[in-house]
Amino acid sequence: MFIVFIGPPGVGKGTQANMLAEKYPMFKISTGDLLREAIREKTTLGERAKSFMERGELVPDALVIELVNEKVSTTSKDINSFIFDGFPRTIEQAKQLDGLLLSKKSSISVAVNFAMDEEERVTRLSGRRMCPKCQRTYHIKFAKPKIDNLCDYCNVDLIQRSDDDEAVIRQRSSVYWEQTRPLLDFYDQRNLLQTIDASRNIDLVFKDLDNFVANLKK
Ligand code: ADP
Ligand code: ADP
Ligand code: ZN
Repeated sequence: MFIVFIGPPGVGKGTQANMLAEKYPMFKISTGDLLREAIREKTTLGERAKSFMERGELVPDALVIELVNEKVSTTSKDINSFIFDGFPRTIEQAKQLDGLLLSKKSSISVAVNFAMDEEERVTRLSGRRMCPKCQRTYHIKFAKPKIDNLCDYCNVDLIQRSDDDEAVIRQRSSVYWEQTRPLLDFYDQRNLLQTIDASRNIDLVFKDLDNFVANLKK
């Protein structure tokens, strides 16, 4: 099973992907997490991606595809269900992903469109905090850690992502509308699109998502 999550920054894709991966034997591939890891490890790819991410622009397709290819091919053969969080983000990436899955005699099972209004999204992003060690996300109001500003799992101080700054948030949103939103038609034309009302609380959104997955498993 291959699930794709599409939506502008801050709708809750990462949060829901983690919850699915905890409940089911599904492997989460978040290109944002992989890119941040590459930057931390100072790999060549990370060095090339860094300035694009700081500006809130998309990292070139070839770099992102390289990361995804590597991750899919090095994941244990026992795992055959994947959640792609924040990938694909361009039509070109979607086509490349189709090719990759075809080579595994597989295809996308569902593309989930996370929909919500702009204002609430900015509130989510500006209150987002991240664990620099395990990359889990929290929110100062909506998903608080047990102890203020400390990761529940790693016991280290949470940080604010440098691209969760107002100007960069604006840039990332416009990149979504221009380059990623066309994917909704791309998947809808193939009858693969499911839209979820992402404005509700974390548990209610997860309930819908869980239903999609349960239906796919039938
Ligand atoms: P994305 O991966 O789509 O950018 P995240 O999962 O990182 O979004 O969520 C953005 C922020 O909003 C995080 O701080 C997260 O804790 C919080 N959040 C996620 N889902 C919800 C929700 N349904 N209601 C309120 N806050 C949420
Ligand atoms: P969010 O969901 O909050 O926008 P991500 O962590 O998914 O954030 O992505 C952070 C940044 O990483 C993006 O602004 C972009 O620069 C880069 N990035 C992540 N995924 C992709 C992708 N599939 N294609 C190109 N760039 C990407
Ligand atoms: Zn942590």
